[in-house]
Amino acid sequence: MTTLLHGNEPSGLRAVLRYLRSASQPTPNALFFVASVDAALASPGFTHRALPGVIDANRCWRPPFATDAGRVAEAVLSALSEAQPECLVDLHNNSGHNPAYGVAFSLGHAERSLVSLFADRVVHTPLELGTIVEATVSQFPSVTIECGRGGDPAADEVAWAGLRRFLDWEQIDFERPVQPLAVYADPIRVCVRKGVRLDFAEAAQGDVDLTISASVDRHNFETLSAGTPIGWLSPEGEWPLEAWNAAGEECSQSLFVNDDGVLRARTPRIPIMMTTNRVIAASDCLFYSVELV
Ligand SMILES: [Zn+2]
Repeated sequence: MTTLLHGNEPSGLRAVLRYLRSASQPTPNALFFVASVDAALASPGFTHRALPGVIDANRCWRPPFATDAGRVAEAVLSALSEAQPECLVDLHNNSGHNPAYGVAFSLGHAERSLVSLFADRVVHTPLELGTIVEATVSQFPSVTIECGRGGDPAADEVAWAGLRRFLDWEQIDFERPVQPLAVYADPIRVCVRKGVRLDFAEAAQGDVDLTISASVDRHNFETLSAGTPIGWLSPEGEWPLEAWNAAGEECSQSLFVNDDGVLRARTPRIPIMMTTNRVIAASDCLFYSVELV
């Protein structure tokens, strides 16, 4: 089990500590990798996804492994090759309002089963970002679990309940999920273009290029019907978004439309992982747009 690849996502770490303190004995041999400790410890604690100027620790799991985080990734991959685990679960939180869900790069019976220990929905994504799951999925079943919003006690509970099931091997049936799973697919990564000034508010802000509705993350995992307003564009500004599908095509204008200064959904799609954190929106992405399979 790996966790804390992002220093502001503590649910997995808390679950591991709680498990170790409970003096329970896992049924299988278990390896824990707690990643971005420096970022997590940076004041005031559990607030930095990565340290400023340092590469995201879950975007560096492919060659050339040239950064410090990349070298750690390479060492962990070599330890995993040696240990030959039956499976891997990587625990995260996100920054917006989301239910718990899994993210699977490859989605077979085993991945469905692993996700179902933690959540009742899964996003199947072929988008290559350089994550630990992409780097391991060809060797053994490997999934990401997003436990819910970082700092929310409910998310800590998701991680804890799932970890206990995971370490109680009797509960894992690689042929069958423990609960039915909704599957979301065809993710499109929606980002703010470089240099675009962004804010989150309930009305257009005059000093930025794009204002996103501050309550928009309440719609994570809900279908936004065509025409739904998402935000406001400054009259002078250029088109502020880019959106990339799995084929690497830019398709933001087929998803959204500038309706006289109001940014609206052009087609019905489902936003997930939508953040209302400006730093994350600028450095990673605004949200992913998916479809229910
Ligand atoms: Zn994360």
